[in-house]
Amino acid sequence: MAVGEFDLIRRYFQHPLAQAGARAGVRLGNGDDCALLQPAPGQVLAVSTDMLVQGRHFFPDVAPRALGHKALAVNLSDLAAMGARPLAFTLALALPQIDEAWVQEFATGLLELADAHGCALVGGDTCAGPLNLCLTVFGELPPEQALRRSAAQPGDELYVSGHLGQARLALEALRGRWPLPAAALQRCRQRLEWPQPRVALGLALRGQAHAAIDLSDGLLADLGHVLRASGVAAQMDVPALLASAAVGPELRALALLEPALALTCLLAGGDDYELLFTAPVAARAAVERAGQEAGVALSRIGRIVAMADAGPPCRLVDAQGRPYTLPPGVELAGFDHFA
Ligand code: ADP
Ligand code: MG
Repeated sequence: MAVGEFDLIRRYFQHPLAQAGARAGVRLGNGDDCALLQPAPGQVLAVSTDMLVQGRHFFPDVAPRALGHKALAVNLSDLAAMGARPLAFTLALALPQIDEAWVQEFATGLLELADAHGCALVGGDTCAGPLNLCLTVFGELPPEQALRRSAAQPGDELYVSGHLGQARLALEALRGRWPLPAAALQRCRQRLEWPQPRVALGLALRGQAHAAIDLSDGLLADLGHVLRASGVAAQMDVPALLASAAVGPELRALALLEPALALTCLLAGGDDYELLFTAPVAARAAVERAGQEAGVALSRIGRIVAMADAGPPCRLVDAQGRPYTLPPGVELAGFDHFA
């Protein structure tokens, strides 16, 4: 490596927010053998790691600034889904060669999002190898307010934030499976490449929501994780979902032309990075305030029920609670990395 590993780190990964005194809780940033973190009194660290592999999670020609953004965004999304406040992160980076213009752009996308969330880059590792990124984020939260996957209770209502399915629709369009008008493709691609983690919503839901998860694998697959962890079942009201704010303009247009593809994107899309959560009926007004505070639309799309002896944990129903039959052609397999 011509520039040298240490020059590269000094030039691009020395984060002002990690300097002593810049961010409460960061006692020491990078440059030593370890960083030193101290959560606020009474709070614990929430820790999560996500790896991004070329060809699997991003195209080789992705804009480096967008890649830097997305690498941190998907990790912050995990903190959001726990109700944690971002504190710091580390970056392990393998680069095929040192292309300074590329690294500069990547670091810009990464650190702009870090600054927006007060999340300090406090360390990492840099080496030569096929392009690969691995981030670990650290957040802080009062442990009793963590939004665990295992906390859904019968009687809870099921909510989702924002619009779903746009990232998947962008992929379908980029793969040539569905033509999209240029402006719609641009908006969907923005969702795919520049996801906005719902950190403010996660914080606002503390003490109100029971269980939460971020939507990375698709609505039904991620709901399945909550149901299994909580030992409960769910009735998802498909007509309510289709009429809700979860369906943005692009999916609404698609639903008229190609309902099966629209349902595939909404129910099994993946890469949404919205929050799916459950909350008791008594918390309805508080949940609504949380959405307003966080500036994101919330949609109520079903409810949690006791686990039945037989049948799938997630039942698709209509407004009267009768089984809802999906049109043929909907692909519901959750995105499986080993499929
Ligand atoms: P060590 O040999 O102790 O593991 P390294 O030589 O790998 O340390 O790294 C030196 C310092 O630079 C460490 O403090 C490490 O956290 C930091 N560092 C390495 N890579 C990165 C990176 N991509 N971003 C931020 N800090 C980094
Ligand atoms: Mg090292």
